[in-house]
Amino acid sequence: QASGSGKPSKPAFSKKDLQHYEESDFSWSKDVQEKLENIFKISKFRPLQRAAINLSMSGRDLFLVMPTGRGKSLCYQLPAVCSKGFTLVIAPLVSLMEDQLMYLKSVGVSAVTLNASSSKEDSKFVMAGMTDKNSPFKLLYVTPEKIAKSKLLMSKLEKAYNMGLLERIAVDEVHCCSQWGHDFRPDYKLLGILKRQFPKVPLVGLTATATSNILKDCQKILCVPDPVTLTAPFNRPNLYYEVRVKSSEDSNGEIAALIKGRYKDQSGIVYVFSQKDAELVAIDLQQRGILAQPYHANMEPSDKSRVHRHWSTKKIQVVVATVAFGMGIDKADVRFVIHHTISKSIENYYQESGRAGRDDHPADCIVFYGFSDIFRISTMVVMENTGQQKLQNMVAYCQNVDRCRRAMMAVHFDEVWDDEECHQMCDVCRHGNDYVTMDITKHARDVVKLVELASSVDEKMTPLKVCDTWMGKGNAKLRKMIQTTILSRQEVESIIVHLLLNGYFSEDFSFTPYTTYFYLKAGRKAALLKSENHSITMKMKRKVPTPSPGRLSVAVSSVKDSEGSGAKSSAKVKPKEGKRPAENSGKS
Ligand code: ADP
Ligand code: MG
Ligand code: ZN
Repeated sequence: QASGSGKPSKPAFSKKDLQHYEESDFSWSKDVQEKLENIFKISKFRPLQRAAINLSMSGRDLFLVMPTGRGKSLCYQLPAVCSKGFTLVIAPLVSLMEDQLMYLKSVGVSAVTLNASSSKEDSKFVMAGMTDKNSPFKLLYVTPEKIAKSKLLMSKLEKAYNMGLLERIAVDEVHCCSQWGHDFRPDYKLLGILKRQFPKVPLVGLTATATSNILKDCQKILCVPDPVTLTAPFNRPNLYYEVRVKSSEDSNGEIAALIKGRYKDQSGIVYVFSQKDAELVAIDLQQRGILAQPYHANMEPSDKSRVHRHWSTKKIQVVVATVAFGMGIDKADVRFVIHHTISKSIENYYQESGRAGRDDHPADCIVFYGFSDIFRISTMVVMENTGQQKLQNMVAYCQNVDRCRRAMMAVHFDEVWDDEECHQMCDVCRHGNDYVTMDITKHARDVVKLVELASSVDEKMTPLKVCDTWMGKGNAKLRKMIQTTILSRQEVESIIVHLLLNGYFSEDFSFTPYTTYFYLKAGRKAALLKSENHSITMKMKRKVPTPSPGRLSVAVSSVKDSEGSGAKSSAKVKPKEGKRPAENSGKS
């Protein structure tokens, strides 16, 4: 049995404890196995499912962190059908609940919902059923809003609790409690009332992404004193991760070529930044002969479900979608997820790209990394407390040229990662050593000085303008005062981003009634550049064509202030060895 003494600092749930719950000699085990096969028609459990179910049946509170599509729902649905009373399920979206209700109906499990669109009769039936000793339904799905707003519901729950009919509480997408998560919902913050009112009812929180910080936050918000946390490894070994620098000319063309070539006849998603982009990119891909349709929050529900249906049944090949295309999408054979624009955080990227390859067959996740997109997103998340930091981590993931992409992600999921485990399933591991370390001190001095000069004459500089001015285009007045550069556009852009990630620049937002502007200003570390001894190095992708001497000098041994490409907390990840897998061009 798990240690149940009420001491303040309990030992963490150990491997041995877990083993205990992986066993099948509990009093309910036979019933569980029988219903698994006969109701859910599933022959065997996936990793952690049995332990989760046993823990929940034992009355423990539980957080279950498992990648999307691995079968979290079973971990509360199966206990629900093996119990006398009913399970209360909180889910964030009505569409999600409806999918589950449809599924449960198809396997003969009685489940009901209460939400804003429930009819009077339905609500009446549900409310009465909650306190019916024969429990006419096993699962009751509600939105968090319902809990927050309906006193009638709370009073019925209380009565059911007192009658011993409220068996379990499941909070799906539990990360929605935390502002640190990738989709915070204010009403989730109020769910602490459940554990406070019904302390004896075991609660299970389920999510696909949550760092330990987020989980701690959720635990506090939900008032769960001492939960067990089970975490399935986040790694998706069958996904190939790749970053491509967006060439300003024709990224749509490059995407279209991929879809018509490498992914011919295969299903995929192209994620874009905005609703307008969804429409435009879809039209563009259509004109290039691809069966693509847009999907975004502002479409009619009937149009959304049509696009979803046509894509599921392969009538169309590609959905060009905003982040609205997400929860509840469970197509297994998605072979590619292409990001036309970077995501606003690594958590979001992991979620979105994770819709590829649910069938465990190889699938690709490619992000097109564009300079100006960074600032579009930056102004979009300007109101979010942690918005800039999260975006910077995503940008660092894209700027990165020397670390396994999986290792970059592992940092965010608090996992220890061994690069070997990637098996060359990311572009960095596959094309190892494809970078050079460069001394960019002089360039940094020039471009920071440029921005300082501009600001001394009261001129605000957007990143784009900094690029142009530095490269000798535009603003004649400034041009006369500064040192222009002969670096390529791409080098200029990536140096500016590197300086931003490392604090030599910082963001300077300006609001008008219509839009938010992103300007660059000298950052907290800019002053260091005044010192002779300060130097900055940066790793850059090796350019294949025409090396032109006299451009960037390659730093050989005098690395004084060696900085990675902005990765903030790399301590937990094993450093890369000098050895690298031989170049292997199998994937192109
Ligand atoms: P999640 O909530 O973790 O994203 P779901 O609970 O929606 O995932 O489950 C995804 C799919 O996996 C469902 O179709 C479910 O029936 C299926 N599934 C769950 N557990 C198993 C299992 N042990 N074996 C086979 N299929 C399973
Ligand atoms: Mg789910
Ligand atoms: Zn790798």
